[in-house]
Amino acid sequence: METITLPLLSQGKVRNVYEVDAEMLLFVASDRVSAYDVILNSTMPGKGTILTELSCFWFKTLADVVPNHLITADVDVMPACVQPFAAYLRGRAMLVKRLTILPVEAIVRGYITGSAWSAYAKTGAFCGAPLGDAPLLESQKLPRPLFTPSTKAAIGDHDENISVAQLAEQIGADRAAEIERVALALYERAAEHAAARGILIADTKFEFGVDADGRLVLADEVLTPDSSRFWDAATYEVGKSQQSFDKQYVRDYLTSIGFDKKTPVTLPEQVIAKTMEKYSDAVRRLTSPPAASSP
Ligand code: ATP
Ligand code: MG
Repeated sequence: METITLPLLSQGKVRNVYEVDAEMLLFVASDRVSAYDVILNSTMPGKGTILTELSCFWFKTLADVVPNHLITADVDVMPACVQPFAAYLRGRAMLVKRLTILPVEAIVRGYITGSAWSAYAKTGAFCGAPLGDAPLLESQKLPRPLFTPSTKAAIGDHDENISVAQLAEQIGADRAAEIERVALALYERAAEHAAARGILIADTKFEFGVDADGRLVLADEVLTPDSSRFWDAATYEVGKSQQSFDKQYVRDYLTSIGFDKKTPVTLPEQVIAKTMEKYSDAVRRLTSPPAASSP
């Protein structure tokens, strides 16, 4: 990551967030790769720009569902303090409105997988959510998309699932109901868009903030492989776990070398190339007109 001499507000596994001024932040997507929460030694040149392109695409596509924090991704019109880093930032940076972030991960699930599947397989339930009467298989499409909020854990802690009632206690009943309605509407719109292009959005996570006027605003990154599980509709099969669209080659390689899920390793060139091909393919498909239906 190139050195950017603006105040660093947060460094995630993949992104850095800088302070521009009291009203604006700069989100920078690096080419770092993480797997099992470990940042690996290899980078994937071009990954940061692809993630930024996808987030921007969704902000535009979903803008009539709810306002979002994106001001611009065009580095040339960003404030002067950003310009010394323009060459590095081009394509990988978003200038966004600074918000008061609500302390909730607004997770929406269209298919039962991951932690929801583990809980359901053990207990037949998930977060007290209505799952229909018929038993569900792994990776099965849910009778309808479910809003399953969780807390935003402090660094080192794990997010904890909470009920919608608990969310209402924390942020108020009206705001909780608004987030549930908006998160489900965003998911449904995006899932329909992606399905028409051969990609299933198994689940995703949104973050929301509140602006100075008290309006709910969509924040953070949206519907990228880092915040969502994308599956290829062509290989989707109920009753087993699915390969995630983007991390498939990375995970397969790490399994093959007995990765300890702690110590960063270097990826072979071929794994990097194949993964980048997958990323590019997903973004190309998502941002293109729908595939023509077969005759
Ligand atoms: P990771 O996502 O890699 O697990 P992380 O969540 O700690 O780690 P980031 O996602 O890079 O790291 O951090 C971005 C931070 O910026 C999050 O805390 C998010 O809530 C916050 N954020 C997102 N949008 C805004 C905004 N418009 N105003 C203020 N803060 C924001
Ligand atoms: Mg994050």
